Amino acid sequence: MPESVGVIGAGLVGCLTAIALAKRNFDVTLFDYRQDPRLTTTSDKNLRSINLAISARGIESLQYVDKEISERVLKDIIPMHGRMIHDRAGNQESQNYGLFGECINSIDRGVLNNSLLDEVDKISNIHTKFGHKLSQVKFNLQSKQSCTFMADSSKASYDFDFIVGCDGAYSTTRSQMQRDIRMDYSQEYIDCCYIELYIAPAKVHNTEFNGPFAISPNHLHIWPRHNYMLIALANGDGSFTSTFFGPWSLVESLDTRAKIQEFLMSNFPDALELIGTKQAVDAFEKNPRGALMCVECKPYHLDNGRAIILGDAAHSMVPFYGQGMNCGFEDVRVLMQLLDKHEGDRTAAFAEYSQKRHTDLVSIIELAKNNYKEMSHSVTSNLYLMRKKLDTMLGRLFRDKWLPLYTMVSFRADIPYHMAIVIEQKQKKILSYLQAIIIAAMAVGGLGMYKVLRRTLKNYK
Ligand code: FAD
Repeated sequence: MPESVGVIGAGLVGCLTAIALAKRNFDVTLFDYRQDPRLTTTSDKNLRSINLAISARGIESLQYVDKEISERVLKDIIPMHGRMIHDRAGNQESQNYGLFGECINSIDRGVLNNSLLDEVDKISNIHTKFGHKLSQVKFNLQSKQSCTFMADSSKASYDFDFIVGCDGAYSTTRSQMQRDIRMDYSQEYIDCCYIELYIAPAKVHNTEFNGPFAISPNHLHIWPRHNYMLIALANGDGSFTSTFFGPWSLVESLDTRAKIQEFLMSNFPDALELIGTKQAVDAFEKNPRGALMCVECKPYHLDNGRAIILGDAAHSMVPFYGQGMNCGFEDVRVLMQLLDKHEGDRTAAFAEYSQKRHTDLVSIIELAKNNYKEMSHSVTSNLYLMRKKLDTMLGRLFRDKWLPLYTMVSFRADIPYHMAIVIEQKQKKILSYLQAIIIAAMAVGGLGMYKVLRRTLKNYK
């Protein structure tokens, strides 16, 4: 008789978890409190961005679970080779992400979730139950884990050998586990609100971009304005999902249409042309305003292999490194590797998972927080750009021996997040030293030297 597992949450991480566990012959039941999203025409009420950046960790974890599934669910991704920085005057400047053409990719959240659910449906040992909201879990040492759900305003109970909580940042699985163990837990809202806007497809086919795209689909567009910013990622139909990020006090101070219009016109005139002034003001006035928070906890499991939490349930982070889902997918790969290593001994696998994964999870939560400043402010600073170019130059010269932080986080799934920080700290010192030498050389060498170095770095992408 196969062991039974209840996976709570049929979001991105829950679907991948269910598939990975089913492939290890567990009898899986996948629950979500939403109705089947493939049957509803409503837009994503979760209020989170409808397109996401997927990079190496996410892609390699999908491939690890199942190569063919990965190919099918990723078939519509749009590669983004770099950032496109838009200044107030409407000038655009491209900044490459990778050293050798590596890219991150834009993918529609709904399409990805639905394709994963289609894959779930093809697997006979996964049973899906939508409209089931987990309300309580009685964890037992001697017998099964007893879960109570609210389903169509009545209660339904299910027993499982173990449960995996993939029920997002406000996880009920986590709060039920907290009643059973001494789990360290913290939740922090950051002072940033986000509002989604929409750039419609261009009216004509753009030969430069090979489709109805008004701006390059192969860049993550950023309008950095120091304390706030606008970003946009392409969708397959030529549209872009754009998101404004800024402090709550600023957003709340824009309390009339006139103030909103004035703010948008003075900060994002070229974006306004793409979105449409009326549409942008409407979006600011009517669209939901999202809050961003970080969640950290430890451990992630209950002993005796009874329960574990993955994805946002274990580590909610701000979206500025584009790693939340990628990291959640990586959780699945790491856990499956440990289950294989311990030959199915869940007690050992879960314990090692909690012990090893924590440093990586707190590292990426921190990196994501720090990246807000980089995206909204640093990308416009000459010193930052000089440093980035040096970093890139060294990365290309000393391939594999010098790795820029962005490369390690987004393109190297073999480097754990915490190691990326350790390596970057060492490189940072060398980089600061080199930068100081260059600045000194510029000062001493006068205008001639300044011009040579400036030209060299300027042409370096
Ligand atoms: P969720 O997506 O939250 O799914 C949880 C599921 O559990 C949901 O389906 C929910 O209905 C269900 N559920 C919740 N409670 C219960 C319950 N009690 N009973 C039953 N079911 C329940 N990440 C990236 O990697 N790249 C990006 O570019 C990126 N951009 C982002 C942009 C924004 C603005 C935001 C807010 C986030 C972004 N993220 C990004 C993060 C990413 O969205 C999350 O990390 C990811 O969705 C986490 O997936 P999950 O399955 O763990 O949780």
